[in-house]
Amino acid sequence: MNARATFARPAPMLYWPGETNRCPCCGGKAWNVGRVTAECAACEAPLPLAQSPGTGDPVWEPKED
Ligand SMILES: [Zn+2]
Repeated sequence: MNARATFARPAPMLYWPGETNRCPCCGGKAWNVGRVTAECAACEAPLPLAQSPGTGDPVWEPKED
């Protein structure tokens, strides 16, 4: 484990399990967390999960344009 990694966020628009995540659309902090995405409870904006719950494996990867 590299402690510095917690400060190196490669992309801001990710849902980080176990942390307070603010919705980029409405600023809400309530989420419906699914397997690979979390939806804002207020405006339903989806965010990809930064990590898969339980495994810690990254499920987000850069998408080609
Ligand atoms: Zn929202």
